[in-house]
Amino acid sequence: MKTEAQTHNELVQRSLASVWHPCTQMKDHEWLPMVPIASAEGVWLTDTDGKRYLDAVSSWWTNIFGHRHPVIVKRLKEQLDTLDHVIFAGFTHEPAVKLAEKLCELTQLDRCFYADNGSAAVEVALKMSSHYWRNTGKPQKTRFIALSNGYHGETLGALAVGDTGLYRDSYKPLLMQPVFVQSPDCFERGAGTSWEDHSRRAFAHMEFALEQHAHETAAVIVEPLVQCAGGMRMYHPIYLTMLREACTRHGVHLIVDEIATGFGRTGMLWASDWAKLDRESAQPIRGDFMCLSKGLTGGTLPLAAVMTTNTVYEAFYDDYGSYKAFLHSHSYTGNPLACAAALATLEIFESENWLARNREVGHLMWMRMSELLSHPHVAEVRQQGMILAVELMKNPGKKIAYPAEERRGLRVYRHGLEKGVLLRPLGNVVYLMPPYTIESKEVELMTKTAIEGIAIATRD
Ligand SMILES: *Cc1c(COP(=O)(O)O)cnc(C)c1O
Repeated sequence: MKTEAQTHNELVQRSLASVWHPCTQMKDHEWLPMVPIASAEGVWLTDTDGKRYLDAVSSWWTNIFGHRHPVIVKRLKEQLDTLDHVIFAGFTHEPAVKLAEKLCELTQLDRCFYADNGSAAVEVALKMSSHYWRNTGKPQKTRFIALSNGYHGETLGALAVGDTGLYRDSYKPLLMQPVFVQSPDCFERGAGTSWEDHSRRAFAHMEFALEQHAHETAAVIVEPLVQCAGGMRMYHPIYLTMLREACTRHGVHLIVDEIATGFGRTGMLWASDWAKLDRESAQPIRGDFMCLSKGLTGGTLPLAAVMTTNTVYEAFYDDYGSYKAFLHSHSYTGNPLACAAALATLEIFESENWLARNREVGHLMWMRMSELLSHPHVAEVRQQGMILAVELMKNPGKKIAYPAEERRGLRVYRHGLEKGVLLRPLGNVVYLMPPYTIESKEVELMTKTAIEGIAIATRD
């Protein structure tokens, strides 16, 4: 009989010998532990040694209701006993139809196109937008405008409209060239400038880019309110209000990438709900395209949806043989199991006032983490709903960053692993993005461990 420790170490060794892990310099695992997980429940992951880890990042922002939520497990088992998968061209099924209806209702958009991950959803939105212009007699509109520090995924099209250096630079020769516009990111605001003023002023760059490039531009793509992979950098919703107005005025689509921010993460159902069409109306802005994934299935199965308008849809509706149809597909488009998991996730969402609960939990997170505001190596503690981020800097007063090779964030991560909290950072940004189901005492453990980890990581 093997001991638990032997099983544990053996699995780590086999993983390092056979698997190429995502978003990882594999050599780091010479000093950074690889954690073999055996099971999960609620906010907890359990490794093969029986050690538990609080999942403070919702496993890359997907498990919004924790792991193995009983409603999702039940609905998924029922679906598995009924229909596993079917080709989605020429065939349809209840879970995909019901989910499309629900998403149309929740997003106030008219059509749902399925894909199977976030990057693929972004590809679909980019292709659909430029194809729309071609179909409507403006084939020169093929470029995109994107924000600096944005992130939209890793496939070549999605990577091209992202601006996170580390991820993009190696593939530069392969990528189309969008127009990058300075982000309204409020970490960059001057002393004494409000978030609103900073974001409003930053819009001048977007207005200028639209004036210069609208004639050749299909769409502007943005992450609403929070540039997540770019270090949880945040901006004011006024920017989205201004962007919606300007896109309409310039005849350019707006693609709102809600892949990370959707489903209540920022305190509203959609981050774009924070931005109103104008001062008088309570009507939130809508993109011409809205990309959804991550939280969509509550972290159960890969699925994505691109929501769009009837105006876009109708520009593709024509006799076959014209170039007008949107001939894009994935083998697993509209997978019934994934759709059932998404419906179960929405069922949980509707079962309780999660937005109100998230406001309470978010407040508790702030109460604990705001003690870091006076820490000598903390440049900012910022929060938007259930996303709280701490920006570490060598000298915040002089805006001197820690050199990347010092891996300060990873030191916090390593401390978290020791203490049983999963706190995977983004460079020198440590963030909390827990499942909505987290309890007060778990918030205590998570925040205490993050604060301790930051103290240790910035000691020398
Ligand atoms: C994660 C993410 C993506 C890419 O989704 P994948 O499923 O990882 O391909 C795209 N946009 C945003 C804003 C994301 O956070």
